[in-house]
Amino acid sequence: MSINILWDQQGLEGIELPVARMVEMILRREARLIEYPFLIDGYDRGRNQHDAQQILDRMQDTLTRRYEIAGPLLLITPRDLYIRGCEFVFGLARPVSSVAVVSTARLKNDYYGRVPDDADLIDRVAKEGAHELGHLLGLEHCREPECVMFRPRTLDELDRKKKMLCPACREALGA
Ligand SMILES: [Zn+2]
Ligand SMILES: [Zn+2]
Repeated sequence: MSINILWDQQGLEGIELPVARMVEMILRREARLIEYPFLIDGYDRGRNQHDAQQILDRMQDTLTRRYEIAGPLLLITPRDLYIRGCEFVFGLARPVSSVAVVSTARLKNDYYGRVPDDADLIDRVAKEGAHELGHLLGLEHCREPECVMFRPRTLDELDRKKKMLCPACREALGA
């Protein structure tokens, strides 16, 4: 079953294809870019962030139920995300309904006062996208710091990960 990647139209950066190809390489599954009119809600004015759970709720209702999109579905958005109890999250997956979201907000060098770099951004979005999709395909978090399924808490931890699954995760995925 192929993977679906939906890009928030506000966040188009010309990196959609390289990210999709890299996700395919990491997960060894076909990934296709899809386009649907889609409302992003869950905005919290006080935090200037979006509630990732509410975005997943909407994806579940609109995309999975109404448009009947089958297969794992990942939304990539420029909006900064949080969940209750966390200052921020890079992304969030809901395996039971096969939807996930990743934010590019904190994956950009600019956010940390560093020089912008598309190659860095592509790597990070692909790794975090593959990570959340990995959850939708049944994978759990991994203790191996270089594995895509390791849960990074900082940008440095994310950058330390390689663009691949460790042998144990690859076996669990059957890829
Ligand atoms: Zn995770
Ligand atoms: Zn692993």
